[in-house]
Amino acid sequence: MQNGLQGHRARKRFGQNFLHDEHWIGRIIAAIAPQEDDAIVEIGPGQAALTRKIIEAIGHETAVEIDRDLAAWLKETFAEKLTLIEADALKLDWQTVLPGQKLRIIGNLPYNISSPLLFHLTAVADRVIDQHFMLQKEVVDRMVADPGSKVYGRLSVMLQYRYRLQKMFDVPPGAFTPAPKVTSSIVRMVPKASETLLPVDNERFAGIVAAAFNQRRKTLRNALSDWLTQEDIEAAGVNPSARAESLPVEAFVRLANTASHVTTDAA
Ligand code: SAM
Repeated sequence: MQNGLQGHRARKRFGQNFLHDEHWIGRIIAAIAPQEDDAIVEIGPGQAALTRKIIEAIGHETAVEIDRDLAAWLKETFAEKLTLIEADALKLDWQTVLPGQKLRIIGNLPYNISSPLLFHLTAVADRVIDQHFMLQKEVVDRMVADPGSKVYGRLSVMLQYRYRLQKMFDVPPGAFTPAPKVTSSIVRMVPKASETLLPVDNERFAGIVAAAFNQRRKTLRNALSDWLTQEDIEAAGVNPSARAESLPVEAFVRLANTASHVTTDAA
């Protein structure tokens, strides 16, 4: 079997950096630990560095690939062992992917779309067992950051609300062709059970978190002035002189719930 698409030139616009190093491919597969009957969905199989190992391990995979040339090569190479969805993972309605099945989503993600893709996937989180992604190390550090950290921000709060996150290990640029400029990391994301999520209006929560971190150097009193008065912030049990980077996820939920009362009362 051919090891990759001969003559394929990595396309920058699709964030193509292909894994070639067997050591790192093996470590990533070990972290995913595919089991028979798993419904594994890979985003961006590319030249099949991970795909091939998953298929060897459990006989089948489903994948989403945007690059037509690679999609054609993947279909020809793996035939019925690979269910290929030729689509943009960012626009895909994930509820239509293997409906009724619990998904294990994996991918060495195109770095240029990683944050929007992570947000897009929250729509299907109630049907996901886990997600293992390779991302820029800097993005993974932001995802898993604790309050008080310099890199704790919108991405940390929004994803930690929905998932348990674990940084697994770093992968050096030399593991890829072409080599990216930066180090990558593997992150494991396990959705929290829906019934354990703190109740909150998602849009309001997202709005409050975005506003708070948009002006992260400002006090919450100033950053949230369009949403909440000083008294409202105090009523949510939060110090109005604090800054967004010091607040745990639960405090943002309380602020969003207070904001919803404010709007409803005023209406
Ligand atoms: N999985 C392969 C590997 O590890 O070597 C390729 C990884 S490469 C970083 C990213 C892959 O995602 C490429 O195959 C690229 O064509 C694909 N891709 C880029 N944007 C995409 C999108 N919006 N939807 C689906 N696939 C995409």
